Amino acid sequence: MTFEHLGLAPALLRALDEQGYTQPTPIQEQAIPLALAGHDLLAGAQTGTGKTAAFGLPLIQYLATTPQEVAARGPRKPRALVLTPTRELAVQVHDSLRGYGKYLRIPSTTIYGGVGMGNQLDALRRGVDLVIACPGRLIDHLERRSVDLSGIEVLVLDEADRMLDMGFLPSIKRILAKLPKQNRQTMLFSATFAEPIRELALEFMHDPKQIQVTPKNTVAETITHRVHPVDGSRKRDLLLHLLAKDSRLQTLVFARTKHGSDKLAMFLDKSGIKTAAIHGNKSQGARQRALSDFKAGRINVLVATDIAARGIDIDQLPQVINFDLPMVAEDYVHRIGRTGRNGSTGEAISLVAQDEAKYLRAIVRMLGRDVDLRDVPGFEPQTPIRWGNSAPGKAEQPAGERTPRRNGPQKHARRPHSEAPRHAHAGPKKHSSGPRRDGGRNGGARQGQSRPAR
Ligand code: AMP
Repeated sequence: MTFEHLGLAPALLRALDEQGYTQPTPIQEQAIPLALAGHDLLAGAQTGTGKTAAFGLPLIQYLATTPQEVAARGPRKPRALVLTPTRELAVQVHDSLRGYGKYLRIPSTTIYGGVGMGNQLDALRRGVDLVIACPGRLIDHLERRSVDLSGIEVLVLDEADRMLDMGFLPSIKRILAKLPKQNRQTMLFSATFAEPIRELALEFMHDPKQIQVTPKNTVAETITHRVHPVDGSRKRDLLLHLLAKDSRLQTLVFARTKHGSDKLAMFLDKSGIKTAAIHGNKSQGARQRALSDFKAGRINVLVATDIAARGIDIDQLPQVINFDLPMVAEDYVHRIGRTGRNGSTGEAISLVAQDEAKYLRAIVRMLGRDVDLRDVPGFEPQTPIRWGNSAPGKAEQPAGERTPRRNGPQKHARRPHSEAPRHAHAGPKKHSSGPRRDGGRNGGARQGQSRPAR
């Protein structure tokens, strides 16, 4: 498949060629023909898949080849709007789109907070076809009437899940209310498709085509991902509590540091759980011994660091526990890859303290599915996990639009965790019949103390 086959204009093909794009990525292959045909798109794709070109190329082609309906008078109004969660992404998308459209004249600008209004006002006054904006600052412009969105023909919501995570839903709704309802094409890109995203799509899109690319880092569908919020100081006790439930279960426990894994192994051993640790400071012989003891069932728990675990060959484990979350989301996949192999079920449990919320968000984004967030009775954290404003690179956080924290009463009505609801994977594939009108409007399982992390 080539870009030419996808129906792109020669001016775009030339720019792509110069940038060394020889072949479309899977998301581009799926999205470009549908977008060029004018369909609304609900696309499951994350950063790194080539999603920017997937919406950017058809968007530019549309602007370049479809004449604007001439306004009776007044300045040129923007015809296309790309909403992004952060200013870094806005700048990145703008750069990419300028590169793709370098042989076409598409006046464009970015709009984001944290900088003066002057340049943005100038650009809007001069007139642009394409605006790439973060919701908060765009609202500011709407309020001072420096931008008129009544001429928008194409709308893109990029990283929609992240925008919702950052509390932008009310802003997005306000912006959408200012756009023309008729003859508008809407493309929504998101790594995950939790209920609020599907509701948004249902409300503002017209019969969207759903497409999805498999993320690079896939985790077996048979694995359950469970997160227990807990105060850092109580993690060891919680781990012991979990391990004690079934002392025969072979468990690989991940810790972030060598020192931490040694201390943890010692603590567990003293508490009566046969444990060994493997990490970079251990000799090859000691590592080998620990591993064969673990495989033979002479010890039940192996505490490992990421690096040490990379090389070890343990094929099938019923459960992996993250005592610390990895700082790099991909490491989560490597860790969890030890369980749920060959269609067998497995459980990935993560003990997450408040200061690890940002790592958890990155992991959930990468997994592209919900994880089950639930307290363990007796170990409820004093400081609940905050889902607000911890995304790396965040640029704007409108007051009063913070990401919702834990729902429901904090201290009361905690159900035993065995009763807490489970949540399924929320990928668009499973919802190929389209968003449900009644879906989760009442909040369903999300009310109460246990809810999925998005
Ligand atoms: P994105 O997912 O849009 O952030 O793109 C990730 C990276 O892939 C960017 O650096 C793009 O320039 C690059 N890219 C996107 N599409 C292609 C392609 N078809 N061939 C080569 N590189 C690409």
